[in-house]
Amino acid sequence: MNGGPRTATVRTLDQGPVTVPCPSWCLGVHEDGLDLVDLAHEGPETVLTVDVPHGPVQLLDAGLCQYPYSSDPDDRGVQVAVLLGTGWHRLDHDALRMLAAQLVVHAGRLRDLAAELLNAEGAL
Ligand SMILES: [Zn+2]
Repeated sequence: MNGGPRTATVRTLDQGPVTVPCPSWCLGVHEDGLDLVDLAHEGPETVLTVDVPHGPVQLLDAGLCQYPYSSDPDDRGVQVAVLLGTGWHRLDHDALRMLAAQLVVHAGRLRDLAAELLNAEGAL
């Protein structure tokens, strides 16, 4: 490494090979064969793994992403992609903070349900 910007050459469907600068957080893995507008930088993912009786379940995969050539200007900046249900959603800083706050509220509801479960079991 010479300390200069890291680049990657991606084979796009519509523009052929394109060499792009990669942000420091990008894993450097880019999917070939997509249109340039779909070229994405992706960072490492974090995931919530829940151990349930039938084995671990993964939820809320999340990682930094950027679509620098997107036709949607909102996607050209850095966002966090989060897997919610079966779909990926790109969230900006405020939306991600909101999601985190909602998860804290939901954790409280789960604790309340656990207490309710104890009471329900006691009432059998
Ligand atoms: Zn990249």
